[in-house]
Amino acid sequence: MSVLINFKICDNAKECGGIAICPTGALKWNEEKETIEIDNDKCISCGLCQNECPIGAIRVAKTEEEYKKIKEEIDNDPRTQKDLFVDRYGAAPLSDFFMLDINELKDKINKNNNIIVEFYNDDSIECLLKSIPIKDIVENFPDNTLFYKIECNDENKKTLNINELPAILVYKNGEIAGKIEGYYSVDQKEELFEKINQFI
Ligand code: SF4
Repeated sequence: MSVLINFKICDNAKECGGIAICPTGALKWNEEKETIEIDNDKCISCGLCQNECPIGAIRVAKTEEEYKKIKEEIDNDPRTQKDLFVDRYGAAPLSDFFMLDINELKDKINKNNNIIVEFYNDDSIECLLKSIPIKDIVENFPDNTLFYKIECNDENKKTLNINELPAILVYKNGEIAGKIEGYYSVDQKEELFEKINQFI
């Protein structure tokens, strides 16, 4: 009958597993509006998308009664994305806490011993659910290690000699100690930490 998305907690990503698994095209990504779109005329209430969403943001109703009940639950849901997600490696930050302007970087590097900086741009953003929480990254390195995210344009990429985004640059005692390029998913967390550890 119909599918509902709780956009209060959904990260509304192009990589949504529900879109990928939907056999009828009832869920699709609208490139122009940058949002998941629902076409309930096509939904057959198979439930595949609901099973695919790990945070329960996709709900499927088989009857009008169920639809009303789920809609009410969503309308009254007090949660927001921030209750479920923290900033992630390889994804746009949800809070400004770790954000740094590229012009402030030099000053930070000169003042601190260990700095891990993630450079990213819009094209390098992966679905939040597949990314590594920054909390995990921060907790895995010495206390004097700072972590920042910097949005990077083509000119910055060139200056920093970065070929692929997202990229992590590790600074130690004011100098670049190492560079790691490309996206690492949550499954590759240990591999990424090992690489960063070589430079810390
Ligand atoms: S319930 Fe089935 S048909 Fe409907 S949106 Fe989900 S996957 Fe597509």
